[in-house]
Amino acid sequence: MSSAPKNLTPERLLRQEILSLHAYHVQPSPGMIKLDAMENPYQLPQLLREKIALAVANAEINRYPDAAALRLKALIKSASGLPPEMDVLLGNGSDEIIQLLALAVAKPGAVLLSVEPSFVMYKMIAAFSGMNYVGVSLTEDFSLDLPAMLDAIKRHQPALVFLAYPNNPTGNLFDAAAIAEIIAAAPGLVVVDEAYYAFASDSFLPQLDHYSNLLVMRTFSKLGMAGLRLGFLAGRKSWLAQLEKLRLPYNVGVLTQAVAEILLQHHDVLLQQAEQIKQDRAWLYERLVGTVDVRAYPSEANFILFHLPRAGKVFGGLKQRGVLIKNLDGGHPALTDCLRVTVGTAEQNEQFIRALQESIHQFSQEK
Ligand code: PMP
Repeated sequence: MSSAPKNLTPERLLRQEILSLHAYHVQPSPGMIKLDAMENPYQLPQLLREKIALAVANAEINRYPDAAALRLKALIKSASGLPPEMDVLLGNGSDEIIQLLALAVAKPGAVLLSVEPSFVMYKMIAAFSGMNYVGVSLTEDFSLDLPAMLDAIKRHQPALVFLAYPNNPTGNLFDAAAIAEIIAAAPGLVVVDEAYYAFASDSFLPQLDHYSNLLVMRTFSKLGMAGLRLGFLAGRKSWLAQLEKLRLPYNVGVLTQAVAEILLQHHDVLLQQAEQIKQDRAWLYERLVGTVDVRAYPSEANFILFHLPRAGKVFGGLKQRGVLIKNLDGGHPALTDCLRVTVGTAEQNEQFIRALQESIHQFSQEK
């Protein structure tokens, strides 16, 4: 019998792609005004909270969840106005669905293609699943570079293309006609990631009928359920039936199903909150545009990307004043001196703007 290897270190055992990764960083935030993670800042109305408390008290947590989640899926389909011939697959957040899609297509040498800068998990999950990653740069104003995209598609024949619509961290919707060309040119699946659909003026859900290689992914995280972890993939039954085989049977727990069902029965409450966030986004955008040295990018999401001199220092100054946003400086060359703020409550937005002006003033004297 062979004995266990001595001095086994992670470096000797793990795949090089994993050793080379940096873990997804979540900033500690106790006691801070938290505007870093695109969360909905609002609590639920008291009556709804009581309803949830009752459902949680009665939930059968001694049992495995309904693996098919039939009730929840039916509610999701009607709340999103999904055409009846389309189906949904549920994920423990949409992150899990990105991973499931990558695992499904990860033949040796298979390529996952996306744009840069965009949501960092596309690239990370390509590494998790052993896929080759290709990132095509956006143009200077963060639009799709269609000729470069079509060229990369021709050259790399990606099994999977991810396009965030609106894009994170830039906040814009890409040109829909350009996306249509990409879907038509792609030899594999194109996933339009609509994580921020609740704040956007357009969607590809109605296009599912038109393309056999299109899937649309959404999450409820930004709409007020980040803590529940629930996302879904919408598309043709032929695709979803295959992808279902990769879904771990109980990935959406009893409590998530019970609470999400109640929230979707009161979808209007969440949509009203999203409407408020959209109004406050306009206020915040105007204030950012009116702040000296700040260049803010228009957003169709629940956050705003902005550029300013000495962004790293100003970010630190905000933190000292108890406001946590996201520092994107150093992540990608196009994001040098860029910060991203999530739209909060009106009061939080005001506190943020005040802290921002103070921090800018504090560092403006420095060379
Ligand atoms: N897609 C995009 C574009 C995102 O920005 C995020 C969250 N930052 C996700 C997917 C993942 O969201 P979740 O796992 O919470 O559903």
